[in-house]
Amino acid sequence: MASYETVIGLEVHAQLLTRTKVFCACSTAFGAPPNTHVCPVCLGLPGALPVLNGDAVALAVRAALAVGCSIRAASRFARKNYFYPDLPKGYQISQFDEPFAEHGHVDLEAAGRHVRILRVHMEEDAGKNIHGRGGDSIVDLNRAGTPLVEIVSEPDLRSANEAAEYLRTLRDILLFLGVNDGNLEEGSFRCDANVSIRPVGEEKLGTRVELKNINSFRFVEKAIEHEAARQEAVLTAGGRITQETRGWDEKKGTTFSLRSKEEAQDYRYFPDPDLPPLAIDEVFVARVRAESPELPRDKRARFAAELHLTPYAAEVMTQHPRVAAFFEEASMLHGDAVRVANFVQSEVLRDVTTHGLTANLPISARQLADVLALVDAGKISGKQAKEVYAKLRGTGASAADVVAEAGMAVVSDAGAIEALVRRIVEANPRQAEQLKAGKATLFGFFVGQVMKETKGSASPQVVNDVLKRVLGL
Ligand code: ADP
Ligand code: MG
Ligand code: ZN
Repeated sequence: MASYETVIGLEVHAQLLTRTKVFCACSTAFGAPPNTHVCPVCLGLPGALPVLNGDAVALAVRAALAVGCSIRAASRFARKNYFYPDLPKGYQISQFDEPFAEHGHVDLEAAGRHVRILRVHMEEDAGKNIHGRGGDSIVDLNRAGTPLVEIVSEPDLRSANEAAEYLRTLRDILLFLGVNDGNLEEGSFRCDANVSIRPVGEEKLGTRVELKNINSFRFVEKAIEHEAARQEAVLTAGGRITQETRGWDEKKGTTFSLRSKEEAQDYRYFPDPDLPPLAIDEVFVARVRAESPELPRDKRARFAAELHLTPYAAEVMTQHPRVAAFFEEASMLHGDAVRVANFVQSEVLRDVTTHGLTANLPISARQLADVLALVDAGKISGKQAKEVYAKLRGTGASAADVVAEAGMAVVSDAGAIEALVRRIVEANPRQAEQLKAGKATLFGFFVGQVMKETKGSASPQVVNDVLKRVLGL
């Protein structure tokens, strides 16, 4: 029996984070009452003319450059004709044979896969149909005309797992660029997965099935796995794959046929006569390049090389742009990035929630740097730093005030600690002798005794120094 390999090509639609729509001045804000962000242009009223939003072009170019594409000096908008209630004009303005960007790539670190990007083009989003309201379907056109980029990969992915890594990598790139908010649930980052299988060793691609509208990374993986298995069962039974569009039924855990696949000619594409060709010159591209924020992989590399984080810590500190900015600011204020990263990992991150581009950070970078500085100055212990952090969470209070109010200031008074150390040494003469004789592990025993007596409030630095002095080590 032949063994098969899975071949996947992904089409990602990402909303561009402009204030206004791509061909009119309506707001793109999410969550407004239905049909309040509309005008003659995005409603498709006769005689209304589109005017291209320059910010959308800049963000689209930024995204295309980040995935290594070359930008075409001239590209063209085309009408993609189809009929559906969420598309008031009866056509979507898209790009067809002349996209503004092409020939890029995305490299997957874990999978070690080089995924070529076929093209990136701009288009407008459709509105939203809501089915089943009192037996009717209603349509909200607030989203109609929101700018999108579509990023189309070559069929270079070989497993559901690789597809998921590709999507996460791409989502992070767009998020760090400030181009897209990465919100799968709200539909601002959407993916269609084209899946085929072929016998291992065969070069010719198999017939593809397009999986539509899968709104979570987990579902993408499951849907692709299921679809590849379904195709294998069909071929093994001597059947043939029909080219079609399928959906994912999460409850049943299966894909199901939506419609037979449309071909380009079904859409009767033609150049939009209302829009001139899109000219993007080198000066514009250079400006966009210069203004582009740092990419996640560059940030990771810099955190490791310049701030001396481990690769793992660098990865964790770059899981979200706001977390990365918080970490960097606190590192700058405090001076020791490794300590900041450790504290962020062990304490802060479990309290961080993110939503799209925003993040809920429990304390400010200033507060975090101050907590760590209090530890440096011997005013509080590392253990107390965690308590101070817990008290600071969600307040604007200063670290020093929290320490003073809680009466937490540690015993860093060497005199007081020395008296305590002498008492402990006298109470444990055998251990003291063994330590002096070279049993180094007993040092921790004495530190532990001091910490116990002071309820963890002694400055570890001072305890170390005093112990060494008293025991003559
Ligand atoms: P369409 O709009 O018809 O879906 P596109 O060119 O926009 O065409 O997208 C084609 C997508 O399908 C690309 O991502 C491409 O990599 C992928 N693809 C093409 N052929 C195959 C195949 N045999 N197996 C898997 N993916 C494929
Ligand atoms: Mg497609
Ligand atoms: Zn409008």
